[in-house]
Amino acid sequence: MKTVTIKLDPSRVEDFVKYSYLVLRDPKYRDILKVQQWILYYLREFLYEKGFTELLAPMASPCSDPGLRGARKLKTKLYGVEYELTSSVIMYKQASVAGFGKVFFVARNIREEPPENLKTGRHLCEFTQLDVEWAHATIDDVMSLAEDMIIYTLKKVGEKCGEILEKYGVELRVPSKPFKRLRYIDAVELLEKHGYMTPEGKEFTQEGEAALSKIVGDFVWITHYPVTSRGFYYLPDSSYPEYNRDFNLLLPEGYGEVIDGGEREYRPEKIRERIKSLGEPLEKYSWFLELIDIGIPPSAGFGLGVERFTRYVMKLKYIWEAVPFPKVPGVAPSP
Ligand code: AMP
Ligand code: MG
Repeated sequence: MKTVTIKLDPSRVEDFVKYSYLVLRDPKYRDILKVQQWILYYLREFLYEKGFTELLAPMASPCSDPGLRGARKLKTKLYGVEYELTSSVIMYKQASVAGFGKVFFVARNIREEPPENLKTGRHLCEFTQLDVEWAHATIDDVMSLAEDMIIYTLKKVGEKCGEILEKYGVELRVPSKPFKRLRYIDAVELLEKHGYMTPEGKEFTQEGEAALSKIVGDFVWITHYPVTSRGFYYLPDSSYPEYNRDFNLLLPEGYGEVIDGGEREYRPEKIRERIKSLGEPLEKYSWFLELIDIGIPPSAGFGLGVERFTRYVMKLKYIWEAVPFPKVPGVAPSP
C-alpha cells in the first residue's frame, strides 16, 4: 500500500468529495461514523420497543415526493417505463400503515439540490431519512413520539460514546419535554423582526431557517405551514384550512431543520385536487390513486434526517463530514 499525504479539509469541499474514498482512513471520520452507527442503533431500538416494524424502502418508483424545496428528482427507466429514484418514501409509508399500523423505513433519498444549497452546510444530494408513520395518530401523538425518541437517543449515545464526544470537546445536552412550539405565522413575524423575510405562502428561506434555529436557542417545533408551501399529502387544519396540520423540528444553534412531518391527507378527491394544483399529471400517481380509492387509514408521521442529526450531535460545520461517500450540491463527478 502507498503512503498518501492528502490532507482532508472539509472546508475545501471539492477536494474533500473527490478524495472521499480516503476519508475512512482518517480516525476523526471513523469516530464520527461510529457515533452515527450508535445513533441509528438507538433510534431503531426506541421504535422497535414502541411497537414499530421496520420495512425496506424502494429505490425507484413511478412517482416520488413532489414537495421538494427547489430540488430536482432523478429519473431512470425500468423496461422502458419512466421511474424516479426515491426522493422520499411518503406514499409507501401511507400504503404500509394499512397493514402494519406502526412502521418505519431507514430510507436513502436522492435529490439534485440547487448548487447554491452547498453553502448552507446542511444539504446533501444523497441522504438518509428515518421515516416513521403511525395509523390513526395525530400531530400531537407523533411530535410527542419524536421528542421521546430524540431524548432517548441523545441520552444513550451520550453514555455509549462518552469517550469519543470528550475527545472532540462535544457536550451533548439532553433536552426535556415538551419542546417549544411556534406556529409558522408567528415564526414568520419573529424572523421579520430580525430582518429575514419569508416569501409569501412559502417555507422559510435557508438563511431564515438557520437564523430561527439560533434565535429560539433550543429545539423548536414550527407547526401549521401554508398549504401552498408543501406537498399534496398533508392534511389541512379543518378550523384553519389555509394551513396544514404539519410541522418541522429545528435543531438549536443554527443547525436548522432535522424533522419534517404531519397528519396525512387520505381522502381520494382531496388528494386528486392537490396533485392537480401542483401541476402534476394524475397518471403518474396511478398506483397511489388506486390505493387511496380502495382506502387507507388516516395517519401521521415524520422523517428525521440522519446525517443532519449526526452533524448536530458531533457539532460538525459541514454535513458532508457525516456521511462516508458524500454527494453534495453542485459537485460532480464524485466517488
Ligand atoms: P423534506 O421532506 O425535504 O422536508 O426532508 C425531510 C428531512 O430529511 C428533513 O427534515 C431533513 O432532516 C432531511 N433532509 C431533507 N433534505 C435534505 C438534504 N438535501 N440533505 C440532508 N438532509 C436532508
Ligand atoms: Mg422539509
